[in-house]
Amino acid sequence: MLKIDNLTNEIDGKAILKGLSLSINAGEIHAIMGPNGAGKSTLAYTLGGRPGYDVTGGTAEMDGANLLEMAPHERAAAGLFLGFQYPVEIPGVSNLQFLRESLNSQRRARAEAPLSGGEFIKLAKEKAALLGMDMEMLKRPVNVGFSGGEKKRAEMVQMGILDPKLAILDETDSGLDIDALKIVGAGINTIMRKPDRAVLLITHYQRLLDYVKPDFVHVLADGRITRTGGAELALELEREGYRELAA
Ligand code: ADP
Ligand code: MG
Ligand code: MG
Repeated sequence: MLKIDNLTNEIDGKAILKGLSLSINAGEIHAIMGPNGAGKSTLAYTLGGRPGYDVTGGTAEMDGANLLEMAPHERAAAGLFLGFQYPVEIPGVSNLQFLRESLNSQRRARAEAPLSGGEFIKLAKEKAALLGMDMEMLKRPVNVGFSGGEKKRAEMVQMGILDPKLAILDETDSGLDIDALKIVGAGINTIMRKPDRAVLLITHYQRLLDYVKPDFVHVLADGRITRTGGAELALELEREGYRELAA
């Protein structure tokens, strides 16, 4: 589903990713762990197509298509979902408006008919129920006044409605209490743990992995993957720290 080969990039002329290779098959959940400043967020932004993250070499393909030559909205329409640590607040735009516009713009980009208001509400109710989100919350402006847990639940509903092929979640677990972690974990397991879906979880800590069991764990250090293992590697990293393992 995702094939990254020898990817290099720079920000403001400074090399950040230095030959990163990673393959993710459909049905797999991968975790990337690593020290601060290693390039984890840079990888997520680069795959999402954020301006300023200039690719200088290597390839990144999703389902065989060259991700790097697609505009950010085309990557989203192709099934790539990015979740970040700090969800944005959008005063004046309700969650339902935002979600419907996001979904329909992706559908238009795929030459699929946009959902009518009625069809969309039916879908939103179904996903909200699946994730334990009160529909009334979805009528409120995006993330305004939401608690950390509520923002994460809203993000999981967003993921459920957009139904991506590949979700990349960058430190989406940072600063969350146990209840919010469980929401994120259940959301990922419910929406994305499927044979035709895949997840890349970027995290600094192992605790999210108590709720979402990864098939593979990678260490990212100094712009490349330096080690790959199974779920047990996350526990080892927690015990030993990155210093000895990253080298
Ligand atoms: P991580 O997510 O692993 O903590 P980042 O990808 O955020 O690491 O950062 C990797 C490196 O890139 C760091 O040295 C950081 O200072 C640098 N960096 C990240 N974003 C920018 C930016 N917008 N401008 C300049 N340097 C940046
Ligand atoms: Mg960081
Ligand atoms: Mg980061």
